[in-house]
Amino acid sequence: MFNKRVKVKDLLASEPTGQEVTVMGWVRGFRNNQFIAVNDGSTNNNIQVVVELGMLDEETQKRITQSASIKAVGTLIASQGKGQKVEVKATSIEILGDCDAEKYPLQLKNRPSLEYLREIAHLRFRTNTFGAVFRVRHALAFAVHKFFNEKGFVYMHTPIVTASDAEGAGEMFRVTTLPFDNPPRNEDGTINFKEDFFGRSTNLTVSGQLEGELAATAFSEIYTFGPTFRAENSNTARHLAEFWMIEPEMAFYDIEDNQNLAEEFIKYLIRHVMEHNREDLEFLTQRLAEEEKQLPQDKRSEMGLIEKLEFVINNDFERITYTEAIDILLQSPAYKKKKFQYEVKWGIDMQSEHERYLVEKHFKKPVIVTGYPKEIKAFYMRQNDDGKTVAAMDILAPGIGEIVGGSQREERLDKLTQRMEEMHIPAEELWWYLDTRRYGTVPHAGFGLGFERMVLFVTGMTNIRDVIAFPRTPKNAEF
Ligand code: ATP
Ligand code: MN
Repeated sequence: MFNKRVKVKDLLASEPTGQEVTVMGWVRGFRNNQFIAVNDGSTNNNIQVVVELGMLDEETQKRITQSASIKAVGTLIASQGKGQKVEVKATSIEILGDCDAEKYPLQLKNRPSLEYLREIAHLRFRTNTFGAVFRVRHALAFAVHKFFNEKGFVYMHTPIVTASDAEGAGEMFRVTTLPFDNPPRNEDGTINFKEDFFGRSTNLTVSGQLEGELAATAFSEIYTFGPTFRAENSNTARHLAEFWMIEPEMAFYDIEDNQNLAEEFIKYLIRHVMEHNREDLEFLTQRLAEEEKQLPQDKRSEMGLIEKLEFVINNDFERITYTEAIDILLQSPAYKKKKFQYEVKWGIDMQSEHERYLVEKHFKKPVIVTGYPKEIKAFYMRQNDDGKTVAAMDILAPGIGEIVGGSQREERLDKLTQRMEEMHIPAEELWWYLDTRRYGTVPHAGFGLGFERMVLFVTGMTNIRDVIAFPRTPKNAEF
């Protein structure tokens, strides 16, 4: 029976009264044949298990290697040494699983690089960095549900397999059971999807928004939180082929309500982690500072991680229009010195270099940009009276770029169908979506927050592959 085990985190917070305790975990270090550092993932801190000299036979002693798993029973006493309040004075040690030190690919001593750790992603949770990152990721996921639950939003599970390819959010992965070598064909040679599993062509979802809107027009306020798939061949530090997205959708919200909710949501998530994962954030702050020491002065962050997070929750996000953003870029020293690689003029889809200039150099804080040209945005965004722009909003974050994309949705049937026609989106396929505009249409709005980008922002990690357990990226689906 294992359930008498006390978690290391709880042990470290206990008063040492000589009580008998059982601890289980993986060995992080073994010093002087006496002091075993044991970790069970509940915290980055280890519990020190002290074995009296002579208590273990030589054979057992040799088996206490890094990452061997052990069970220790003993008494919890005040620690004699520095660095910890309590320690376990062992009465028995049992090796649960050996770990051959010669073969073990994760040698903590040598400070393995993040790149190397990606190759052994099945073991990287056992490092302090990934321990902290994934406990913070967990806390963020929990806070997402807490936030919306407190506000009375209904959590919707929108489908992962979809037939709608009209949204245009990104390239899609096809879902099929047809044979690759000899698929059924129509007379004109095209593939006959009527014979496919669903009797039509289907894909993995790129966004749950359209289905989310259906639910919002009954429950008023809903959110989704699920995996999303984009077959975009962009090998960047910000894109995954499989990522998690949170998409709230609210009836009776306009674009300003939408911005308010998104800002409140982001701040709530950060505050939750600040309150519940202080230790991990302190570790990550130090990690980032150490990593940045290797960078030239002008590439380092002006604030430490915790300082940055505090700044974000204590200050209003900047709110500007797309037109103002373009003007700022055109007036910028960077533009005048021809530092931008891509063109700047009204109508462009801002590139990452432009977004980062705005948030990192100009405003030095998160920025909400609204009123984008309709040509660069999706068909469902509400058209503004100027005939040129739509009620879209992107939130740009320092170090990340776009973290949220959203809009007020076009609730007027005539305007919506007209825009769909202009963009060659077949109305027949989206008959169910258009029905919401036919039967009791309402002003409504919503946004999508990329969960991994949020985790990047809060952990100070710089590559999105390091904040999801097993990243899916072009040419990579190991584990
Ligand atoms: P980007 O311009 O960065 O590719 P996008 O405009 O394609 O983003 P949306 O379609 O608006 O993004 O998706 C909503 C949110 O989902 C984005 O703000 C971002 O946080 C996140 N996101 C989008 N694509 C990816 C991806 N490939 N990997 C991880 N997160 C993503
Ligand atoms: Mn994209």
